[in-house]
Amino acid sequence: MLILKPKTTPLYHSRLIFLQRSLRNLGTKSSRYSRRSSDEEDDPKDQKFQNAEENQPDRLYLYKSKGQHLLTNTRILDAIVRRSDVRPTDTVLEIGPGTGNLTVKLLEAAKKVVAIEIDKRMVEVLHKRVADEGLQDKLHVICKDAMKAEFPRFDLVVANIPYGISSPLVAKLVYGGNPFRSATLLLQKEFARRLLAKPGDSEFNRLAVNVKLVADVEFVMDVSKREFLPCPKVDSSVVIIRPKAEIPDVNLDEWWAFTKTCFCKKNKTLGATFKQKKKLIELYKLAKATSSNAENSLVAKNHESDIDYDSETDEDVGFASSCSDSEMTLFKEKIVGILKTGGFHDKRPSKLSNEELLYILSLFNQAGIYFHDHVNPKGSDNVAFAAAYTS
Ligand code: SAH
Repeated sequence: MLILKPKTTPLYHSRLIFLQRSLRNLGTKSSRYSRRSSDEEDDPKDQKFQNAEENQPDRLYLYKSKGQHLLTNTRILDAIVRRSDVRPTDTVLEIGPGTGNLTVKLLEAAKKVVAIEIDKRMVEVLHKRVADEGLQDKLHVICKDAMKAEFPRFDLVVANIPYGISSPLVAKLVYGGNPFRSATLLLQKEFARRLLAKPGDSEFNRLAVNVKLVADVEFVMDVSKREFLPCPKVDSSVVIIRPKAEIPDVNLDEWWAFTKTCFCKKNKTLGATFKQKKKLIELYKLAKATSSNAENSLVAKNHESDIDYDSETDEDVGFASSCSDSEMTLFKEKIVGILKTGGFHDKRPSKLSNEELLYILSLFNQAGIYFHDHVNPKGSDNVAFAAAYTS
């Protein structure tokens, strides 16, 4: 296959802001920094481009697949550290330190920085650079995928992260169980806008709803793509995420499963979403499994079915044939009744506040309707939620 556009970018060391000083100290023509490490997982196409160029001196190959776009503007780096309100007693977690443009500034302000970096070559450059600054005692580097690493205790997160892991990383931070003061993150602009969106905004989605339940998000500034090396295709924004002091008393498994249902088609009305036969069967199964209450053993009566028969699976058809049409119709009427009681039948989830969504969920749960399989939970923990955003 003809490769028109390589996925790697050779980074000339002389263009890195830190290298005026540290290139001398690296003490090599840096071909060691352009060689792939044996456990690189990049696309084989990257390899092809790499081989053609790898013996060129003074180059550090940056992998687009690892989101390697270095922030080079010192003014912006300083602003990020300033706005993060780093205290001399703080341990700061940095995800994806790269060559350390932000790390060095964080080390100057904090007691300690724990940096999680997936790329061994970056770790090598980072260690060298930090040692040259005499700051090595304050730095602890974990060379791992941040999504697989266990986070140590930290006070703050400050990071220009690889954009490919934005969703699962934000989920891991806010639902991961580590208490922290704030996370200052440089994110893709569109992703930041979604986190900042309010009900009714076109960007408002399930991630925004789930983050808002437990944290407040503040806009700090936009950052042009021109401030990165190499220049990415997208602009960026800095936001600060602050965990809320108090979060609503709700079962999180129920909440995530509920918002997943509501936001599967975020612009559909709730009435339409809950009319789908597949969804009704799923909820009916859960209601039966979760509660032994007689309320859930529905009695067949002569009701006409107006169920939406779209998108049934074989399993659903099997289950549906084991319970009568009228049983399902009654169950559907129960759901519609709940939505109508609250005045939510014709509302779209993307326009509802978290308080309203929490209220609807409480109405369902009180009526014995559940969204999460509490009897046979599949990986029901916070990390599973994070993982749900990985694909
Ligand atoms: N923060 C630096 C570098 C940003 S580039 C700067 O602003 O200049 C993103 C960095 O994240 C790269 O160094 C890349 O190797 C690293 N990275 C990519 N995926 C990662 C992952 N899953 N876990 C940890 N680090 C990752």
